[in-house]
Amino acid sequence: MTDSAIRIIHITVKSDRVIAQVEVADERHAYTTPSLITALLPAYPHLLEHACVNGCGTTFGAVARRTSLPHLLEHMAIENQVRAEADAEGAIPNGQRTQAQGDESHYQGARGAAVSPATYMGKTRWTDRARRMAHVELSYADDLVALAALRDAARDLNAAIALEEATHP
Ligand SMILES: [Zn+2]
Repeated sequence: MTDSAIRIIHITVKSDRVIAQVEVADERHAYTTPSLITALLPAYPHLLEHACVNGCGTTFGAVARRTSLPHLLEHMAIENQVRAEADAEGAIPNGQRTQAQGDESHYQGARGAAVSPATYMGKTRWTDRARRMAHVELSYADDLVALAALRDAARDLNAAIALEEATHP
């Protein structure tokens, strides 16, 4: 096992979004790798379909295999929020979740036809690249769900990296 690769240091809850201050412990984990994404896809099957504004395309899939680790955390947290909402609405099959079109990094969770869909947006930027500090911003429908989504995303990401390091030291 390795120490946590990514750590949430502080979370600020605003009226329209949560802002997580995160730190990547070591430079070797500052960016994602193809094998890390492959390892996460079974638990986060919609990751690559998320709408995302980036230099390479319109989906997170365009950059997922080589982007900052905090950016990956953002999209995992968004997927956890969509999942939590779907669970709360009562089991919606994965295939019925739809991807939003738009100009920000976001993912739209489809709900029952009578309920307007919630759209989650996120944004990630390094605040201190040398110290590997970043801000991850997430919109939310329920702040407690957003906090849990971030916490679970960090836990799953750290577990996947630890497993990778144990398998390919
Ligand atoms: Zn993105």
